[in-house]
Amino acid sequence: MSWQNERIDMNVYSQGEVDRWVYSTCNLCSIGCGCEIAVKDEKIVGIRGNGKHPINRGRLGPKGENQWQANNSPDRLLSPLIRNELGELVPASWDEAMNLIVSKMKEALNDKGPNSISVYSTGQAFLEDYYTIAKIGRAGLGTHLLDANTRLCTATTEFCLLQSFGADGTPASYDDVDETETLMLFGHNVAETGTVLHERIMDRKARTGKPYIIAVDPRKTLTVRGADLHLQLRPGTNVPLLNGLLNMILQNGAADEDFIRQHTIGFEEMSGALEEWTAERTSEVTGIPDETLKEAARILSETPSLVSTTLQGAFQSADATTACVAINNIHLVRGLIGKPGSGPLHMAGQPSSSANRTAGGVGTYPAHRNPMNPQHLEEMAKLWNVDVSMLPAGPEKGIEEQLEMIEQDQIDVFWNIGTNPLVSLPNRKRAESALKKVFFIMQDHFLTETSKVADVVLPAAMWGEKTGTMENADRTINLLRKAVEPPEGVRTDLDILLDFAKRMDFRDKDGNPLIRYSAPEEAFEEWKEVSRGRPCDMTGITYDKLEAHNGLRWPVTAERPEGTVRLYEDLKFHTSADYAQSYSKDQFTGRALTHDEYADKKADGRAILHATRYNPPSEQPGGDFPMWLTTGRLVWHWHTRTKTGRSPYLQAAAPHGYAELHEDDAREHGIVEGEVIRITSPRGWIEVPAKIGDAVQRGLIFVPFHFGSWESNQAANDLTADFVDPLSKQPTFKQSACRIEKLRRQHLVASGETLGYIAEQYSMSVDDLLKVNRMETPYGIQIGQQLEVPISVMNAPIQPYTPQRTDFKKTPIEEKDEQ
Ligand code: SF4
Repeated sequence: MSWQNERIDMNVYSQGEVDRWVYSTCNLCSIGCGCEIAVKDEKIVGIRGNGKHPINRGRLGPKGENQWQANNSPDRLLSPLIRNELGELVPASWDEAMNLIVSKMKEALNDKGPNSISVYSTGQAFLEDYYTIAKIGRAGLGTHLLDANTRLCTATTEFCLLQSFGADGTPASYDDVDETETLMLFGHNVAETGTVLHERIMDRKARTGKPYIIAVDPRKTLTVRGADLHLQLRPGTNVPLLNGLLNMILQNGAADEDFIRQHTIGFEEMSGALEEWTAERTSEVTGIPDETLKEAARILSETPSLVSTTLQGAFQSADATTACVAINNIHLVRGLIGKPGSGPLHMAGQPSSSANRTAGGVGTYPAHRNPMNPQHLEEMAKLWNVDVSMLPAGPEKGIEEQLEMIEQDQIDVFWNIGTNPLVSLPNRKRAESALKKVFFIMQDHFLTETSKVADVVLPAAMWGEKTGTMENADRTINLLRKAVEPPEGVRTDLDILLDFAKRMDFRDKDGNPLIRYSAPEEAFEEWKEVSRGRPCDMTGITYDKLEAHNGLRWPVTAERPEGTVRLYEDLKFHTSADYAQSYSKDQFTGRALTHDEYADKKADGRAILHATRYNPPSEQPGGDFPMWLTTGRLVWHWHTRTKTGRSPYLQAAAPHGYAELHEDDAREHGIVEGEVIRITSPRGWIEVPAKIGDAVQRGLIFVPFHFGSWESNQAANDLTADFVDPLSKQPTFKQSACRIEKLRRQHLVASGETLGYIAEQYSMSVDDLLKVNRMETPYGIQIGQQLEVPISVMNAPIQPYTPQRTDFKKTPIEEKDEQ
């Protein structure tokens, strides 16, 4: 059972009563918390949780409570900018900026054709925007180069669901999290990335003792501290762990044979690939003790219900989709899907990245249509009233492939909407050199690191300044209403797209404008027809109904007017070749299968079990780079800090990057807390303070990826490798090789100087000075002796976060640590 009561979290700065509260949804992470925006004197002055919204019952996390401050930031972009002949971005009118864009688009179409134009969007905009991007991109420009920063995170969710179930759409929902006996959080640091969902989980656990939580993570995160069992695996070993667990589940005799026989295909091939993964071998590869593995397998074998969540720890690896498919396999083998409290819940990262997948902004066609299926293209051509020959079929190209195409001079125009790739892409120096080559359109609220490659900048409206819908991680469609007008000179994403379509004079086959809607709700009404009969059918939704119900989970139809809590309750999967969203890919190489290959599987409504073979990370520690590097998020920031870095509270809580290392590694190198060290990988280096503890394993460095090069170079993605998962084309952010280097100077001890005096000069403690110089008792220094001193020690720790405001009982892991 979800929350037992409301708790209205609120953060308002207003002299006197606010003028009005406007219905909305938090626009930072994928949890989808309901909220209301406070408006006074036509300005946003605060936020409060929506006590009636079933997802959060009024609760908000620190990011949610503080997001609105960015709207009032004095450095908002208020006018388009165009780069002049001197290389400077200078203000321009909307007409000048849009006419320049149109002329560059037409030039590219004439010179090289539609696939010389790329539209790279976001997970922060609205479903109506993504649908419009898909329509303009496919039926207007005719390009199949539509991608989004969702490729850096939730693309794996989409592709693992296509592989196993034939279509996107995560089977379980938060309601199942409320009911399950066992929750496996796989590479999902929910305490920091989805604070309110974590609080909801822990709230139930405090009341009922359930669910039993298994946390899989190479780090001891806040989430791990709330778990019952921690599987602390070595980086890059997700697939061996899952293969070992499933092998043990089979050996325990826990397979649901009836379910497998009636509702799946592929069991023989799948189980054959597991045989080598004995408990001993799995332990050897993952580093997890044998007994711990067996205990996890016992729980997974015996539990009557199971929800498994995944996030970036599963996604951002070279074997991302295979790991997530292995999780689907566990659910299918145990028959734990499509029933209360059971199913995979592959998460999303951003607040509306799921909407982008659903609307066709990333790889496939709108409403889960297969670009390789001629019948699906015919349907789209009919819906859009265009000739089917206009609709490009693919193959889909992820952002890393698009960078290669730019390097080979195949792309001339790159339209970047609502994302900051020069911080978020891996191996970012390479990304920068590539993106400098194209005519680069940037659409954002602020100048960012990416501005340096922009030729035109379009100022876009923010959350609270526009109306539309978002889809969260559990298929809930939420409404956001406009609270205030955008600042003068600023336009909504949708208005910019509609203006572009008009200036390009895109027409349907009867000569009418391709896009005839002019407002978000009209766009949504058209979208509903596109979704009719597809897995994400939203024909039963209206804006007013969304507000009245505080969100609805798709499909929502005449037969299911209240939406759908979980998918596949009838155990009919979307795997018939005519209906599936994809003909799937080879599970090991990523090669796209043909219609005939897929049809030959004869899945026809049954789920597909795949053999999940281990593909070790392409880059591993060794030689000059003996340590693992992994990256991730902090509770205080969202992605590249474009908004959260402008909230004084969030920025003060986490003002800079850092490198977290194990205390034994720190001791071995003589590194002290706060000392600025250099982390170097084969691609670059950063200099950040050291954070020392036992959260990471020995030999592993963790760097948060939020920080770029605005103030100083702290960009984790200067270090990361740009290899990709062959199925979801997701970059391998979680596994790169690196080394740490100390940045030291020498201090020559002068007459009369004591250790205390010297330490004070360098803002250090005597203890740290001793550690840096590995001095042991009895301590003594001589005149003329050379002491090492760090170049800089930052006394600015990242604020610790107490994830829950409720007084929860201690979990077994916390109790064990205290003993
Ligand atoms: S958990 Fe996510 S959606 Fe909810 S308030 Fe926090 S940032 Fe917003």
